[in-house]
Amino acid sequence: MEYFKCFEVTYKGTTSDVVLAETVVKKMRAAIQQAVYDRCLLTTTDIIKYNNPAFNGNRSNLENHILLDLVEKNDFNEFMQYIESPKQHFAKFIETRVDAHFSDKNEEIRNMCKVFVETFKKIVESAMINSTENLESDNAKVEIWLDRFCKELNGQIVFSKYDVGAFKSQNINNTVFFKESVTAFLEEATNELKSSFNNTICINTKEFRQKPHEILIEQMSGCWEQCPFCLASCEATIPNHEGDHSVRFHQPKAVKGGRWHGTDKFDTDICSSLVESDASYMNSEGKWIPYKKYRSGGPKYEKWSITPEKELQPIWKWFVCHFKSQLENYYKLKFQDIPEPWEKITKQVVIELLKSK
Ligand SMILES: [Zn+2]
Ligand SMILES: [Zn+2]
Repeated sequence: MEYFKCFEVTYKGTTSDVVLAETVVKKMRAAIQQAVYDRCLLTTTDIIKYNNPAFNGNRSNLENHILLDLVEKNDFNEFMQYIESPKQHFAKFIETRVDAHFSDKNEEIRNMCKVFVETFKKIVESAMINSTENLESDNAKVEIWLDRFCKELNGQIVFSKYDVGAFKSQNINNTVFFKESVTAFLEEATNELKSSFNNTICINTKEFRQKPHEILIEQMSGCWEQCPFCLASCEATIPNHEGDHSVRFHQPKAVKGGRWHGTDKFDTDICSSLVESDASYMNSEGKWIPYKKYRSGGPKYEKWSITPEKELQPIWKWFVCHFKSQLENYYKLKFQDIPEPWEKITKQVVIELLKSK
């Protein structure tokens, strides 16, 4: 404040200029802080998206990473959460990765925010210089300066004339002094803002307009239509997309507790094998439809492309064998007809296949 005392001696009658400068910077500090958080949010979600192999491809790629994570964790309860609520599991998977990024790269992110503070400070300084240039040095109207200042900011920082509306009918007594006062207050405010990012605790994501993981969930989300036979989710990236729904890994009915009618025995059939068999299914109107013509069963069947299994899709077969007793316990059903080749699929084979996709 020594600085201002000296000025007040030099420039008479400038107290109101100091008050205006202080008010502008007070509003500006909040605006810069928000701008820093906004930019940090966008930059960080972009970094996460492009650097994380799970997020830098399409939905099928993300699905592979989710499945890989499940197989590697080898946790039956997590698998069941994925099977029963795929969308929630997908959201939790993204949130966990995003949280990990924020805690691993905490220091980097805080340093990035300090750089952003400096960037926005420069924007304000140059807007100050340009908006006071050629303005009458004495008794310039606040309203005129404000118009110029907001124009100079060009929406890069959200600062509205109404933020200092109470001053608008006043005059700036000395524009040079006013400009220097704003610059000095701004220096103080931005230094304080930068030191707030020195704190070693994680950056407070509550300050963001949107939670970072929600942005990625929105971007990576897609169709979520479920296969009418096994309830596996369509992997298309666009909701309400054109063309057929499809998924690479259909699940044996047993995964969702499917049983042979009237028994306590699991049904291990997979829709992708059934579609080339001579079996039939009963549609919602109680009509028997041959699987080979599965699309004719009604609207929920006609938009699905279920291709007969050509390549080995081992994950759910391995899952059934690996968690056989847990599944029996979970659904209170018994397995009686697990195909023999399924038992030979190892976890390593499943992992390698998922990694190669
Ligand atoms: Zn299916
Ligand atoms: Zn779809």
